Amino acid sequence: MTSWSRQLHREGVTIGFVPTMGALHNGHRALIRAARLQCDALVVSIFVNPTQFAPTEDLAKYPRPIAKDRALCRAEGVDICFEPTVKAMYPEGFDTVVTVPGIARRWEGEIRPHHFAGVATVVTKLFGIVRPDVAVFGQKDFQQAALVRRVIDDLSMGVKLIVHPTVREADGLAMSSRNVYLSATERSLAPVLYKSLLAGAQAIRGGIKDGKQISSIMRTIVEQQTKATVDYLVACDPETLEPWSGTVSRVVLLGAIRLGSVRLIDNLAVTVPKQPARAALTGRIQE
Ligand code: AMP
Repeated sequence: MTSWSRQLHREGVTIGFVPTMGALHNGHRALIRAARLQCDALVVSIFVNPTQFAPTEDLAKYPRPIAKDRALCRAEGVDICFEPTVKAMYPEGFDTVVTVPGIARRWEGEIRPHHFAGVATVVTKLFGIVRPDVAVFGQKDFQQAALVRRVIDDLSMGVKLIVHPTVREADGLAMSSRNVYLSATERSLAPVLYKSLLAGAQAIRGGIKDGKQISSIMRTIVEQQTKATVDYLVACDPETLEPWSGTVSRVVLLGAIRLGSVRLIDNLAVTVPKQPARAALTGRIQE
């Protein structure tokens, strides 16, 4: 992989990169298509990174439909499907950890304490191997994209980061490789997470500037409609990921819930209006 990318760089060919854990769906496909437009040669990595899973999480049962994934990559004109082994990525003696404590402190980082160190380390290593000019990540994992931006900037990696909007099912559920774990009943309830984010966005557009109130509006929707456990449903500053103070004009609503044994995450960016939207005040749904 490294000698191929070195050779391409010598020839002046630009490299685009989409890192994934496989079990590819239309969300990944959208990232691949966005990357395809930005570069001459396109690399997709498929690597279920063990260091970003806690021992209690789903590493062993994470879906690995590799033949299907390769077919999708081939159909989308991917030049290289990079599938390193765990041993090749983490040989004996591997000892480096990349941490981004500020970004990793809250939300996903609080619930999954070692997750983001695993992500930052593997992304740094993958960038070192693939040497991309452009990398595409999904907004679906908002905190992860913020973390990657920080790593690229702080370590002067010179990689252009593109964050692609979340791709959803027709009923609003964000596509995810883990959605296959949902039972039929859980699947029918799963769009409640996105619905709660829409309600939070509507409340902000209607003039509510209190993050706690927004949280409780979102939480009520999930709790009234399901027995899901709410890990967090919060309004944050999209730059710092700190709770929204009501002063900055951009907000991101971040949410994670557990439906049975399945954990769903999602988010929605909102622009705070200078004047509260009338439709939102009268309670009409805007999206
Ligand atoms: P994963 O295979 O889950 O590690 O995801 C690989 C990349 O695809 C990450 O940058 C994710 O944010 C992105 N991604 C996953 N699901 C979606 C989605 N529904 N829409 C857009 N991007 C996504």
